[in-house]
Amino acid sequence: MLGDRVPVGSEGVGRRGVGEERPRPAEQGRALDAIQDGTLYKEYVKAANGFACPNNPSTDMSLTCPDPLGSVQLIGLDRPKGGQLYLYDSYDAQVLNYAPNVPQPRYTLAWADQPQDVTSINPDVPADQVLQVFQRQLKFKNPPDDTVVTWCSYHRGGDQSGSKGKDMVLFLDGHVDKIPANVFQPNGRPWNYAYTVKPLP
Ligand SMILES: [Zn+2]
Repeated sequence: MLGDRVPVGSEGVGRRGVGEERPRPAEQGRALDAIQDGTLYKEYVKAANGFACPNNPSTDMSLTCPDPLGSVQLIGLDRPKGGQLYLYDSYDAQVLNYAPNVPQPRYTLAWADQPQDVTSINPDVPADQVLQVFQRQLKFKNPPDDTVVTWCSYHRGGDQSGSKGKDMVLFLDGHVDKIPANVFQPNGRPWNYAYTVKPLP
């Protein structure tokens, strides 16, 4: 969501994998203040702390992590290879207690490449809803109101592994639902499962 990324050498990750690198200082020592002027929609985002959850343990504005989607072939639209994300920015990627070396994606324009991918991402999606789920992606010109924009898992508590606690999920219509983590990101499901989950009724 930030308008600027720090290009560094490519970090190899698999199609469904995520980076295995520890957070490290930003290249060239660039602090978040330096990119504050580069954020999109400055009329809405007044300050860089709008990108930080109060529960985000990373308060150092200079720390980055490898973009977990930076080398994922499926996601070519908005994720340059080898990109870095600011850890202070909670809503592009998060690093949870149970997996301190594995940043998890929280925002992308594209979660699925083709409609047939939906069933492999979430086998519980009924056949007659596959297209509807596929269209819930920001890569499309007019995605529906129930499209997932981003979500925050820093409120889960404990080791944040998802066995308990809730994720705060922001949908495109602007509302936020507190969805049980084991519903939104069940253990054993692929990294892009969450986008298939619907708002609470
Ligand atoms: Zn949060």
